[in-house]
Amino acid sequence: MTSYRPDVLIVGSGPVGTALAHQLVMKEGLDVLMIDAGDQESTRYGENLRNAGRYRKEVDPFVNVIKGALSPVSTFPPPPSFSPFGGGSVTGPGHNPEQNAPTNLRGAAVTRAVGGMGTIWACGVPQFVPEVELTWKGQKYPIDAATLESQYQKAGDLLGRSLDAFQGSVRHQAAKKTLLAAGHNTVTELPLAARVTADGRIVWAGSDTLLGPLSDPAYKPEAGSFTLLPQHLCTKLRVETDGERWRVAGVEVSNLADQGEEVDIVAKAYVVAGGAVLTPQLLSASGLEEHLPALGRYLTDSPVAFCQVVLKKEIIDGLPKLVTEDALTRIQAHQKQHPQDPLPIPFDDAPPNLFIPPTEDRPWHAQIQRAAFSHGEVGPQVDDRVVLDLRWYGICRPREENRVSFSSTVKDVYGMPHPTFDFTPSKEDDANAQAMMNHMTEVANALGGYLPGSYPQFLDPGTGQQTAGTTRMGTDRQTSVVDSDSRVWAFDNLYLGGNGLHPFGNASSPTLTSIATALHATDAINATVKNA
Ligand SMILES: Cc1cc2nc3c(=O)[nH]c(=O)nc-3n(C[C@H](O)[C@H](O)[C@H](O)COP(=O)(O)OP(=O)(O)OC[C@H]3O[C@@H](n4cnc5c(N)ncnc54)[C@H](O)[C@@H]3O)c2cc1C
Repeated sequence: MTSYRPDVLIVGSGPVGTALAHQLVMKEGLDVLMIDAGDQESTRYGENLRNAGRYRKEVDPFVNVIKGALSPVSTFPPPPSFSPFGGGSVTGPGHNPEQNAPTNLRGAAVTRAVGGMGTIWACGVPQFVPEVELTWKGQKYPIDAATLESQYQKAGDLLGRSLDAFQGSVRHQAAKKTLLAAGHNTVTELPLAARVTADGRIVWAGSDTLLGPLSDPAYKPEAGSFTLLPQHLCTKLRVETDGERWRVAGVEVSNLADQGEEVDIVAKAYVVAGGAVLTPQLLSASGLEEHLPALGRYLTDSPVAFCQVVLKKEIIDGLPKLVTEDALTRIQAHQKQHPQDPLPIPFDDAPPNLFIPPTEDRPWHAQIQRAAFSHGEVGPQVDDRVVLDLRWYGICRPREENRVSFSSTVKDVYGMPHPTFDFTPSKEDDANAQAMMNHMTEVANALGGYLPGSYPQFLDPGTGQQTAGTTRMGTDRQTSVVDSDSRVWAFDNLYLGGNGLHPFGNASSPTLTSIATALHATDAINATVKNA
């Protein structure tokens, strides 16, 4: 048996768990043990795989890396005709016969890896907009605005948030100027967790960035300690209660690399940061559904509208008038060096990264870019210098009946209770999504014509990987799971982190706010450790 007695156990090594680990070790000097069910896929813990040389030059191959890294959460079994045995209900590993197909979030997925989805994410880090995501129906985000703002700054600093990584791009400048001229006055730079090196390379932040020096497995901090165990699945929190207060007394962990090994972990404080589906899964597996009636409920999901456009010829011909002098010099150098190239766009021109933030009247955000997601390959026949991806992310508001629940009989491939979605957008959500689609097509028309096969479409629900609300932060145990310190109601030593905490739905990408919220919990976790 291997025993560990850390101050804090963090389950989950995605951006949220790693940001918190950094604070607890480097600022508070605590002993932190982190476990993740996934493998360590890079030399340092949790690197963003987007930084590999090949994917800097080619977008399409990374689409397949993303597809490979995403495990669908709930898959309705295939129809009987697909079974070699014919007839009857067919259920294979990972299939969920309890899933009702029309209410599924078909695109929702998880990434089990050291670094979580931070190994493949696209690094968009806008803040939530006060009138859209921090207030709703007279309720306020449980962390007050000034405190949240200071945590946003810390989170942004940890990630190296910047606005200028793509500003030198010819296409960025041309698309921005074109849209401003067409009356899209709020188009601006997408805040990104990315930096440009002296030789012009973009370096995307990952969970390694959030860990800082702790991402080096050999690093020994001056105070405290950090240990990360890959391939360690937490199967249960052992909880105790005197009927009023609750506490975690230890955890059950399975070492997936050595099933024979017994792992014994007892900590002073516990944090579950497993993502918006796997966090409530672990709490459900630990028998906490009755204690936490809001667990898995109030689920929100950001609808995504997508299309790709081929830039108008007049924009390409007019590039010299649309770009800065520096960019023009690069265009001229390119034309001189490659007289046979019909396009006045340098081969190494960075793609655009433009953003239209949400407003109260237009509760969605827009990203105009050329980037790898789980969709949007253009194939080798297309010169992707003239292609722009348009992704619009909308909002859906929380309703108690929209939920993820966990089966008492069907197990997922890791042997955990299988998640089942029961999600239907409201009429208001649908109307917002439709208005969002109209807005996207207006912007598309200003930029070019649709790339064949990439016409305006809604992606499968869940594809944006922005599911939230399942472990909501709030003011009471009936309608939320954690308090404003991210502590589970009535627990002395259990904290949660991640997108599941956002209570009102989100149109903005959620990760920066999830990190800020987790950083806010540092003081409470530290106090729990000190009082243990
Ligand atoms: C292609 C793509 C692009 C994206 N782009 C953006 C973007 O631009 N901006 C943005 O804000 N967001 C983006 N996201 C979403 C973003 O990646 C997530 O919001 C973020 O990673 C959530 O962080 P997390 O730490 O809460 O959870 P995760 O990153 O999901 O990590 C959770 C970890 O916990 C582990 N785990 C779960 N349960 C257990 C258990 N029981 N035992 C042990 N380990 C467990 C999992 O293995 C996983 O590694 C993107 C996602 C994808 C897929």
